[in-house]
Amino acid sequence: MKTTLKYSRREAHEVCFGGVKIGGGNPIAVQSMTNTPTADVELSVAQTKRIAEAGAEIVRLTAQGKKEGEALAPIMQRLHTEGVKAAIVADIHFTPEIAMIAAEAVDKVRINPGNFRTSNGELQRLIEICRRRGVALRIGVNHGSLAKRIFDEYGDTPEGMVASAMEFLQMCREADFHDVVVSMKSSNTRVMVHAYRLLVEAMEREGMTYPLHLGVTEAGDGIEGRIKSGVGIGALLADGIGDTLRVSLTEDPENEVPVGRIIVDYFAKREGEFEVDNIDAYSPTSFCPRTTAKPIIHSEITSEYAVIEATSMNPTHEWRAAILNRKDCTPVVLRRRYEESNKERVAIYAAIDMGQLLIDGLADGVWIDAPALSDKEIEDIELMLLQASRLRFSRTEYIACPSCGRTLYDIQSTLAKIKERTSHLKDLKIGVMGCIVNGPGEMADADYGYVGSSPEHITLYRGREIVERNIHQSEALDHLIEIIKRDGRWHDPK
Ligand code: SF4
Repeated sequence: MKTTLKYSRREAHEVCFGGVKIGGGNPIAVQSMTNTPTADVELSVAQTKRIAEAGAEIVRLTAQGKKEGEALAPIMQRLHTEGVKAAIVADIHFTPEIAMIAAEAVDKVRINPGNFRTSNGELQRLIEICRRRGVALRIGVNHGSLAKRIFDEYGDTPEGMVASAMEFLQMCREADFHDVVVSMKSSNTRVMVHAYRLLVEAMEREGMTYPLHLGVTEAGDGIEGRIKSGVGIGALLADGIGDTLRVSLTEDPENEVPVGRIIVDYFAKREGEFEVDNIDAYSPTSFCPRTTAKPIIHSEITSEYAVIEATSMNPTHEWRAAILNRKDCTPVVLRRRYEESNKERVAIYAAIDMGQLLIDGLADGVWIDAPALSDKEIEDIELMLLQASRLRFSRTEYIACPSCGRTLYDIQSTLAKIKERTSHLKDLKIGVMGCIVNGPGEMADADYGYVGSSPEHITLYRGREIVERNIHQSEALDHLIEIIKRDGRWHDPK
């Protein structure tokens, strides 16, 4: 059966909060999150203003305890007096009481179903406050922090994430409360894309149209972090999924906003329709690669590969149609020319254009044709793109949290130091997390973890097992390297 592929957004109902409208065909909203201690009203107001000035329509602050929850009212007052237009969201983990305090102050409350009690009517009480004040809710599922009973039944799978979200969405629907947004974040782009697609299927079966918030967690920093976010977020936006997004970077939060804006603007120009003979030739929710060829970059192309160049304004669908219409099993390389001279933009555009085909197992290689960039720069971007799509690991993978008001040490400079000493260990995943409350869960499948346990003190992990507790930061990196050496997984840089 013939199908026409084109870019069109999934229909979601409109959710309004703090003057922002998402879903309902409104433009995709860009958001970010502060990393100041929320209880410090001055610092938090100043950073929220900087993020809003950078162009974010929504700004989130963490509220982990009572003093942070109670700081939200004066923060809101100051932002209002100073004319800041961004909608303000409180991020709650663990404590329903803080969610109630936050809902009395902010425009939207994010709760994590993995650690929010539902047994004593807490969600219903929270919904009543939200309804009374016109506050929206986000059901924010995280791959690394599923509830134990969900984990026991499904493991840490996309299916478990969907079950967790659907349980809360049903409760919201039963309470006749619809100002709800959902997210399904993971640091693993493949898990994240499959989870959102499965959620959309599950919601469609139930006649639900909640808008979706997109994000890749712990994406790291620099070009690598931008590519990882571009791959995951871009793959879903190409499907038409997504109403608001956050690009999480281990950098100043103001840096996240222009990257989000580049992604949104790039999708505003998707034009073109492409006919496909057999759309059922791939699965959108499980990884079934089309060939067994080794994923390659352009300098490795041999005669065994077919190169497919996309030239339209909708390269993702153009490639998809060309690959699905092929009658042979020749491995394919995606080629596209980028005239931009800015390396960051080339990397983000290529991640958005090519990521979905790589995540879906439809493509076997990438060829970025960017005359303004050096061969080395192009090769680096191509390798990062294959790694972000989880097809080929050529460097150490860092699962680094973006930091927030809970962060216990200077994560940006620490990540740079850890990268300097370990980036040649290409088979390792290292988690660099700001706090012990959420860090160990959210660094998911990292081989080693460097996690803040008290101010300037670090706990080191091997997988999920604690190896050294609460050592001073000045010694922690040396100790981590010693552990890697003891495990026989270290080699000196070439
Ligand atoms: Fe904040 Fe990082 Fe802890 Fe997540 S892991 S709560 S971003 S400090």
